[in-house]
Amino acid sequence: MSRRRELCLDSLEQAAQALATSRAAVAFTGAGMSVESGIPDFRSAHGLWRTYPPDEYATMSAFSADPAKVWVMLRAMVGVLSAAEPNPGHQALAQLQRMGRLRRVITQNIDGLHRRAGSVDTIEVHGSTTGLHCPSCTLRDKRASIPTRGVPPCPRCGRAMKPPVVLFEEGLPPGAMGEAMRLADACDLMLVVGTSLAVYPVASLPDLAIRAGATIVEVNTEPGHLRREGAIELAGGAAQVLPLLIERALELAG
Ligand code: NAD
Repeated sequence: MSRRRELCLDSLEQAAQALATSRAAVAFTGAGMSVESGIPDFRSAHGLWRTYPPDEYATMSAFSADPAKVWVMLRAMVGVLSAAEPNPGHQALAQLQRMGRLRRVITQNIDGLHRRAGSVDTIEVHGSTTGLHCPSCTLRDKRASIPTRGVPPCPRCGRAMKPPVVLFEEGLPPGAMGEAMRLADACDLMLVVGTSLAVYPVASLPDLAIRAGATIVEVNTEPGHLRREGAIELAGGAAQVLPLLIERALELAG
């Protein structure tokens, strides 16, 4: 067995032991979590974000200036998200929570795949694509569906509505960040999965956990974002690594 492979197995065992003895674990996930479900992250050289660059299509100023243009991207995005299915990584996290070994999942993703995999009380810090929301008067219609064409007007103020997805330059859903910070501050282990930690303020959640003394386990195809903080790094895709890690942790926990 190569030294590299040995090191990977050592890290997996170390992370599984930490998870097996944790009393207050949380997971914090980003776009990489859903790449193996067929949803590209911001960094991949193909996919939605190449056609619709986020700085041109995913900002509040773009939506205010030209809602019809942003709705073209929103419809394409909802199409990609609704065609995706939870992967074994989402399912493994849901199983860990069912077994009482994971408090909650905090996700930056808007795809709803943690919920669909069975995770309960997931905190979606960047919103979701369920229903419609008016950024002008804050009306939220949870049951509205995405229209097939045009820009839906707000029934209260008449201005443009959008799905309750948080665009750049837009505030986070009320309460979500506070709840995520409380969880991060009270956890003893944080699984940081598939995020480049580039989008603030949510990218500061691992720092809160570290200050609270938590162990950090990073799962990423290109880990190293939390190396200075002594994170246990597991290099690989979330759909492969999480089932192995969680199966071993549950085995150790007995
Ligand atoms: P990001 O695109 O900045 O970074 C993705 C990270 O995932 C990278 O570090 C990459 O190395 C890693 N990665 C790629 N494939 C992986 C895999 N199979 N397994 C594990 N890791 C993998 O994503 P971000 O940090 O989440 O920030 C981007 C913002 O865009 C967030 O707000 C996010 O919610 C949003 N976004 C969401 C979705 C979604 O809902 N699925 C998709 C794209 C972007």
